[in-house]
Amino acid sequence: MSFDILKGMATTLKNMGKKPTTVSFPEEERELPPRFRGRHVLHRYDNELERCVGCYLCAGACPADAIYIEAEENTEEDRVSPGERYAKVFDVNLLRCIFCGYCQAACPTGAITLEHEYKLASFYPEDMVFHKEQLLEPRGQATIGSNAVWFEPPPPETAQPVPQESKVFDGSEASAAAVGLGNIHTEEPVLLVNEEQDEDRREITGKMKPVGKKKRQEP
Ligand code: SF4
Ligand code: SF4
Repeated sequence: MSFDILKGMATTLKNMGKKPTTVSFPEEERELPPRFRGRHVLHRYDNELERCVGCYLCAGACPADAIYIEAEENTEEDRVSPGERYAKVFDVNLLRCIFCGYCQAACPTGAITLEHEYKLASFYPEDMVFHKEQLLEPRGQATIGSNAVWFEPPPPETAQPVPQESKVFDGSEASAAAVGLGNIHTEEPVLLVNEEQDEDRREITGKMKPVGKKKRQEP
């Protein structure tokens, strides 16, 4: 028996008593993290009106162009949502979707959330375009979905480290000021676009003096 076979058998024996890291899907399913982003759900209010007001903000925020909406005016005789309009057509193309959650973040009424449904395979591409009828919560089952989890502040360990005044990654919390010019002193020019445009910007704001000011070339 060669040494390689013995080595392989030793590895097998070493792992025989250990708990498997795999699960027998679909009989067994893993517990998902609370902020897992799966298939979208459209929500209702407790009075059964639809939360979506057909504003298109989610479609505008979507980087994958995965959302298609056709809005329709509400009337007093046929009120579907509390706003002026509601989504008559609301399609999400899950073949395009990258599950980034931007649509959820953009929605002003909490109408769309990404939930824990991840069993989305199909042999037919058309099955992967989910329509409003499939996405909308049934009447009498109004929830706010994973918004409930996102409303809670994230745990401190998730704070993103960014360069602060010391210009090293010190692990302190991210902020718009810190990731832009923010509170970083700019004795040295910090270029946002290019040197010429940056110079213009500094002249306009008058807050920062560029070092080594370059003479602008006349056109
Ligand atoms: S999760 Fe991202 S990619 Fe998918 S529909 Fe929403 S915004 Fe678009
Ligand atoms: S889901 Fe939200 S963001 Fe999208 S159209 Fe409806 S109300 Fe607007």
